[in-house]
Amino acid sequence: MLKIIKTRLNQGMRTTPWPKKPVTLIDRYRGLPQVNGACDPEIIRQCAERCPQRAIDAAKKTIDLGRCVFCGGCAGDFVRFTGNFELGCTRRDDLVTTGSLPNLAARSRAEFKKLFGRSLQLRQVSAAGCNACEADTNVLGTPFFDLSRFGIDFVASPRHADALHVTGPVSRNMKNALLATYAAMPEPKVVIAAGSCAISGGPFYGSEEIIGDLNSLLPVDLYIPGCPPHPMTTLHALVTFFKGRAG
Ligand code: SF4
Ligand code: SF4
Repeated sequence: MLKIIKTRLNQGMRTTPWPKKPVTLIDRYRGLPQVNGACDPEIIRQCAERCPQRAIDAAKKTIDLGRCVFCGGCAGDFVRFTGNFELGCTRRDDLVTTGSLPNLAARSRAEFKKLFGRSLQLRQVSAAGCNACEADTNVLGTPFFDLSRFGIDFVASPRHADALHVTGPVSRNMKNALLATYAAMPEPKVVIAAGSCAISGGPFYGSEEIIGDLNSLLPVDLYIPGCPPHPMTTLHALVTFFKGRAG
């Protein structure tokens, strides 16, 4: 027993200090992109053409973070990727950006903060995701991210859930299961679109086998971009949206 206590003391606190302290992700992480509006139009055109997601509007010089998979193919003179992982948004239109996003805390709804600010139960549905979004959601339960310290947990039954956390492009085969899960949840209920697939179809954009836009099926309250969203992006979005502030 003493050996265990000594080992734990030597290990120290393993949980991320966020939100009490800011954290910096590894250098190769690609967060919020910054667009250089003064870039040569020919370079912008080439970036738009190269983008596998058709996420770049060369005329407006914007990137759609709902479609972007953060592959880095446009990085250079036109786009610089920052380490900012705070990407959660409440409106789909706000994800089309030149490099800034609205303050999520200011956009969170008062009734959700009142109802779920101290306790939030999530039901996760993988609607044909590739498992990367699901894996990076799963790690939120580890001691490092420790989602439970904020009163947020995942539950097995939709009847116990306050919010539906959807990943994947919603294949036609998963559509009915997703709608049945949503119908089984008590009111009021929140819908979260996590990952490029759930927001826009992601790499499956344009396929006839998918719905590709969760908002066309259910009313989305919170968008969490990424492919997959970094766990810190999800943690920040959930805590900020449901508590109205980080922490
Ligand atoms: S990082 Fe995003 S916008 Fe840039 S090329 Fe890749 S998918 Fe397109
Ligand atoms: S958004 Fe990317 S990581 Fe998530 S399910 Fe789709 S392809 Fe996989």
